[in-house]
Amino acid sequence: MKNGSEVLFIIVVFAVASLAVGSGTDEKIATIGIVKTPPFAGGNRHYVSNRPPLLESPLVKLPIGSIEPKGWLLGQLRLMRNGFTGRLAEISRFLRDDSGWITLKGKGWEEMPYWLKGYGDLGYVLKDQDIISKAKKWLELAFKSQQSDGYFGPPENRANHDLWPNMVMLFALRSYHEATGDPRVLQFMTRYFRYENDLSDEELLPDSWQKLRGGDNLEVVYWLYNRTGEAFLLRLSQRLHERTSDWTSSVLSDERDKNWEESSFYHGVNITMGFREPGIYYQQAKDGTLIDAVEANYTRIMEAYGRQPGGMFGADENIRPGYGDPRQGAETCSMVEFMASFESLLRIAGDARYADRCEEIAFNSLPASMTPDLKGLHYLTAPNLISCDSTGEHDFQNGGTLVSYDPWSYRCCQHNVAFGWPYFAEHLWMATSDDGLAAALFAPSAVTARVGNGAEVRISEETAYPFGDVIDFRMETAESVEFPFYLRIPSWWDGGSISLNGEALDEDPRPGEYLVIRRKWKEGDKLRLEFRPQIVVQTWPTIGNSVSVRRGPLWYSLKIGERWRRYGGTDEWPALELLPTTAWNYGLVVDPLDPAATIRVESRKEPVDQPFEPEESPIVLRARARKVPSWTADGRMVGKLPQGPVATDAGVEEITLIPMGCARLRISSFPLVKK
Ligand SMILES: [Zn+2]
Repeated sequence: MKNGSEVLFIIVVFAVASLAVGSGTDEKIATIGIVKTPPFAGGNRHYVSNRPPLLESPLVKLPIGSIEPKGWLLGQLRLMRNGFTGRLAEISRFLRDDSGWITLKGKGWEEMPYWLKGYGDLGYVLKDQDIISKAKKWLELAFKSQQSDGYFGPPENRANHDLWPNMVMLFALRSYHEATGDPRVLQFMTRYFRYENDLSDEELLPDSWQKLRGGDNLEVVYWLYNRTGEAFLLRLSQRLHERTSDWTSSVLSDERDKNWEESSFYHGVNITMGFREPGIYYQQAKDGTLIDAVEANYTRIMEAYGRQPGGMFGADENIRPGYGDPRQGAETCSMVEFMASFESLLRIAGDARYADRCEEIAFNSLPASMTPDLKGLHYLTAPNLISCDSTGEHDFQNGGTLVSYDPWSYRCCQHNVAFGWPYFAEHLWMATSDDGLAAALFAPSAVTARVGNGAEVRISEETAYPFGDVIDFRMETAESVEFPFYLRIPSWWDGGSISLNGEALDEDPRPGEYLVIRRKWKEGDKLRLEFRPQIVVQTWPTIGNSVSVRRGPLWYSLKIGERWRRYGGTDEWPALELLPTTAWNYGLVVDPLDPAATIRVESRKEPVDQPFEPEESPIVLRARARKVPSWTADGRMVGKLPQGPVATDAGVEEITLIPMGCARLRISSFPLVKK
């Protein structure tokens, strides 16, 4: 057991070197080092950081609007604007005039805030005035609904002692304040948190979803404390931690295994949100065992249900003991919530692995949860999924339609998916506790931020990542300014190079850590990060010895012919099935120790605005495979993976593999064929 202060010193392991970079007189010395995280001390002078006594966080979120998404990421956000997130009011029954959030009489639960939390951020990130003003109308309703004791929102939730829908609304208000600085938000939240603090223990998070998800409430209490410093907030935060379900002990247990259907701890979305709660409270308690508990539960869940590519775990409502095959799906809500948890943990603990995990979901799992035009989505996405039909002939916990793409029917996901890409875009770049900047998540973008002594710099990030292997960072600054620039080195790093203004840096980056360059940066400086990703075959010993193919941040799936078929909805908002037109039951002919002998990159091209579809795949691989006739469908579902290596008489064929995020029908875990 380590205490907090010991942990801090352990993770700040420095390896610093000085060397000459460039030959001009003005650009002599750069200090280059490799660190586990930016320091947990100092406190960023330009952006709101954790206020004492909270633990200093190594990374600090930049205000919304500091980061401009570009390239394919901008493409996703624009498709969202034109798709069901931007136009959800046209089709959602929860966004009509009879919403309890408007009438303050009828029902108004999580759906509207779920949507608003992402819709508002989409507007702020895109600087889209139409979205911003429409979002403001809903936010004004929350302001208007506040009662004299601080409570806000539909009275029905109050009568039910249910704080959960308000937790979601708090995030929407937080973003609104970051984007606009409207001082009413701080006063409003202060009154509301006083209301919460006046509740008795029995009334504060008594039961149901709110009890599992109290960490969300806690996160916004700290956000407000950092801005106002009011002491009562730290008493409330302590109480919220105590009243939230216990996520410090093992989420998996024999008792819960027996009652898996009843256990709220086994609900996939609750896990993806709740598991981070000890990490949030760690900022106040400064007890390293809390952050260890987060990691331990993540590992337990992934080892039991996440033995599959794409960063998710199978929970087709709840996790189900014995259902670990990659044909079990993950709910779309759980993808965006898991990503958000890693974004928060990254800020608090700085560990680059959280960024890897967030990217893995964003690039591999999330895109296939939606149609390429982002006008429809489904409830469950699985690494092995051969039919997105509407029949319900699948072995999931819930019956009915779960994998067809339908903009109308998936109540929670339809609204909650909205914050996935906007939050991702907001966390690409982060300020550091030593007044520098960190390239934390990678995507085409530009950031404008204050650094060092307060000078404003702009850094553009030109890349086709995750489809491209090169990232160029270009500095734009009116005056030369000294600050540390942290570059995340992904955990999958298997070689590459880093150069500054054309000269290779003689530094050997360590996977999962940061390279930091502290120098006087000047206009036109160019830092290049070049990956040399190898094709890797991952074996899943406990899932029938099946294998999956990875190259850098992307996993690869069998390309399956697609037939889209409308079965419902309207011309403008169709409900669609996606059915296979080609064979899927292939086993890979590959030597996991030497995959390059049988798998090769066939073609590459620049990503278009929507690269996540089969015909637009920016990278295509070719592999050798044989059909496995004994591996058949189970209803409309892919059969469980057979125990490999499997014997087959079928001839060797060349198959096409495309990035998992481009493949809505896919096999991502393959049987290994016997030699
Ligand atoms: Zn959902």
